[in-house]
Amino acid sequence: MTIALESLIQQAVAAAEQAYAPYSQYHVGAALLAADGRVYTGCNVENASYPASICGERTALVKAVSEGQRQFSALVVATVNGGTPCGICRQMLFEFAPDLRVVVVDFGGHIHHDLPLRQLLAYGFTPQDLPR
Ligand code: ZN
Repeated sequence: MTIALESLIQQAVAAAEQAYAPYSQYHVGAALLAADGRVYTGCNVENASYPASICGERTALVKAVSEGQRQFSALVVATVNGGTPCGICRQMLFEFAPDLRVVVVDFGGHIHHDLPLRQLLAYGFTPQDLPR
């Protein structure tokens, strides 16, 4: 599938504008491309009980999965400085798409990283690792 990367980048940057990040001030936007071509966006949503917060990447993922999506081909993450997805997001994404293309950009759309999720999360834990 040809990926309309510029469109995904724009959607990720736009999603960051919705971030609720009064504590960290670190806004994150994500645009997740499902195998069927639909795009799910997400932003980080923080909470006064800090551990209850959720990242933009997982917001996009749970939106997609809750609407029946299970296969994904690309994820664009936008932050002010091109920060990479955290470990929890890497693991949750790995469950569905270990070969996911992950593109990390800053708010100017400049690409900082463009690599497969397998490289971001070496030896990620999978459902096959669970004993039957
Ligand atoms: Zn995260």
